Amino acid sequence: MAPTTHTLGFPRIGVKRELKQALEQYWAGTISASQLLDTGRTLRQRHWQWQAEAGIDLLPVGDFAWYDQVLSTSLLLGNIPARHRDPDGHVDLDTLFRIARGRAPTGHAAAASEMSKWFNTNYHYLVPEFSRDQPFSLEWSQLFDEVAEAQALGHTVKPVLLGPLSYLWLGKVKGEPFDRLELLPQLINTYAAILTRLAAAGCDWVQIDEPALVLDLPENWQRAYQSAYAALQGHCRLLLTSYFGPVDHHWSLIQQLPVQGLHLDCVAGHWPTQAQLATLPDDWVISLGIINGRNIWRADLQQQLRQLTPLAERLGERLWLGSSCSLLHCPLDLQEETTLDHEARSWLAFARQKCVELNLLAQALGQGETADIQRIQAYSAPIQSRATSTRVHNPAVQVAVATITPTQAQRQSGYPQRAAKQRLALQLPAWPTTTIGSFPQTRQIRALRQDYKQGRLSSEAYESALQQEIAFAVREQEALDLDVLVHGEPERNDMVEYFGEQLDGYLFTRNGWVQSYGSRCVKPPIISGDISRPHPITVAWSQYAQSLTRKPMKGMLTGPLTMLCWSFLREDLDRQTIARQLALALRDEVCELEQAGIKIIQIDEPALREGLPLRQAEWSDYLQWAVQAFQLTAAGVQDETQIHTHMCYCEFSDVMDAIAALDADVITLETSRSDMELLETFRTFAYPNEIGPGVYDIHSPNVPSIEWMASLLRKAAEHIPAERLWVNPDCGLKTRGWEETRAALANMVIAAKQLRHDGESSAIR
Ligand code: GLN
Ligand code: ZN
Repeated sequence: MAPTTHTLGFPRIGVKRELKQALEQYWAGTISASQLLDTGRTLRQRHWQWQAEAGIDLLPVGDFAWYDQVLSTSLLLGNIPARHRDPDGHVDLDTLFRIARGRAPTGHAAAASEMSKWFNTNYHYLVPEFSRDQPFSLEWSQLFDEVAEAQALGHTVKPVLLGPLSYLWLGKVKGEPFDRLELLPQLINTYAAILTRLAAAGCDWVQIDEPALVLDLPENWQRAYQSAYAALQGHCRLLLTSYFGPVDHHWSLIQQLPVQGLHLDCVAGHWPTQAQLATLPDDWVISLGIINGRNIWRADLQQQLRQLTPLAERLGERLWLGSSCSLLHCPLDLQEETTLDHEARSWLAFARQKCVELNLLAQALGQGETADIQRIQAYSAPIQSRATSTRVHNPAVQVAVATITPTQAQRQSGYPQRAAKQRLALQLPAWPTTTIGSFPQTRQIRALRQDYKQGRLSSEAYESALQQEIAFAVREQEALDLDVLVHGEPERNDMVEYFGEQLDGYLFTRNGWVQSYGSRCVKPPIISGDISRPHPITVAWSQYAQSLTRKPMKGMLTGPLTMLCWSFLREDLDRQTIARQLALALRDEVCELEQAGIKIIQIDEPALREGLPLRQAEWSDYLQWAVQAFQLTAAGVQDETQIHTHMCYCEFSDVMDAIAALDADVITLETSRSDMELLETFRTFAYPNEIGPGVYDIHSPNVPSIEWMASLLRKAAEHIPAERLWVNPDCGLKTRGWEETRAALANMVIAAKQLRHDGESSAIR
């Protein structure tokens, strides 16, 4: 008998991002609620249909969300913040959007619920809010409606439900502090009510997601699993589902839970050993997540079949095959990628193709006919031949990585010596002013790029138009009297895609969209082979910009870790090696910028912290190679050359040591939204080099006042010696307009000048 196949969830945004478009039109008031509902229904039907056609046995329901699946769970449980709740208690789609987008029922602003990264993915969920007198009750029928909808279409469904402990774990207490675990009994009652309804609707199995099981959990949270799951018995059969890592550290807890099946992520975790299986109840379904839900590579089914065969013999019909995690994290359909060459396409599989992979495996394990086995062989051939493809392997790169020496990752001298030389070379005033790199990406710049990409503009014409943009940005900065200028990044669509396009070893998709949050999607480039730099990337732009001014022009690169974290990665190399390849390629760019006369070079690493493993025990290993990759990129230059880095929008405090270890001469950080809260960290941690705490939030069109910025800088000077402080906004300005940018920067420069004036004696560094 063939194993049962299922997916843990399917992308919902649509091949052409139909859901995004409909959402944004609905928010803009150009389509009605019923038109939006129609779009959702069409997408669900299509996606179920595709999965069913591919041969998936149990279709997920409850994976569709109007904004985010955690937010849907909050509505289902009636957990709606008071500020977003309709006074008459009515809950509808607008309630959901109010929580996500920050509106009160009156239409006024009411802070949106916080967003947070979904484990170690680039998906963001809406953080549930808890208060001590928290009520829970069934208030939102979307899940039940969609179960009925799928059943009416003749599908066999498996509702997907975020489990009670993970739901609680992912939320945050608001207001008076208390232990949110106290809410569990009440929460469980509501979960029981949900399961009762699903059972009444004829659902045999429910996938209950407990991804928190891959994390380190406190004792009392571990214990809570037992009582919670005991109270959920007797309605539907429960498939306890974990993903994004191994769960060995909670094995003894899991094996005792009163559930009927267990799903394991065999990609981010590992395949269960025979010994582990022996410890589980012998009537449990064992679902193996063998098809990677987070990447885009075609699976080597032949190899998987070999590995699965003994397990299938042992488990019989208790064996299920599934995606490792929800397919939400990979693009929808490879068939759309008509511009990829045939070979590259033959290496890939998106969500739709992954369903076919599951079915091929199940068939081969079930019937095991020669034809099934041959299909598996034929399907696996391209990905097997990739292993030796010259498009993938570049011996020169491999040698360079294998022969990296520690000195390559070390600046010539320590920061104090470098700082002295840089002071002489750069002649900057005290409280030097600068920006983070990008200037407004105007409609005009985007149109230029569009015209160029679609062949309506020659490369000469495009280049000279960009030069004019750069010249404009330089004139503006000179007029503002900023001290360290930037060229403004008009040539970049996106900080990762732009560099990826210039490097060898990358592939790009046209429709490889992955939801990031709400209606926002990203199209991560694919690292498909060894990375090398066939030609300089930014040198000509920076050199041109420098030729227009006597002030120092700051070169601007995306760092190796950010390139790593925001790309799809190859699976035949570890992250560390890919990071080193990226670092060596970017190092050449840094050195050539220096040779071209650029005295200050910024290497952006906003994603440094995102790459952290889920479990703390693995942090130090990651941070060690991450820091080394940054240093490899940066350390090829002379002492006189000043290296900057920039980080934003993350909790820095727990990786401060690593940030200091980067040994950048200057770091610019986002701090302004939290009123320099970050600086608290510097009370206990003496950051050794120079630092530019962002003095205003670039996400707001408001023009910050001189007094406000000056006061922030004085506050900063209480923690960090003034001679090591810089003055800058907290991130790039590409989403802003010129008018507010000009006004904000003018005020910022005046604030810096006031501080210089205050401290007369240190007017020159
Ligand atoms: N240099 C980039 C910019 O200014 C940095 C972007 C970022 O930090 N995300 O846009
Ligand atoms: Zn930033």
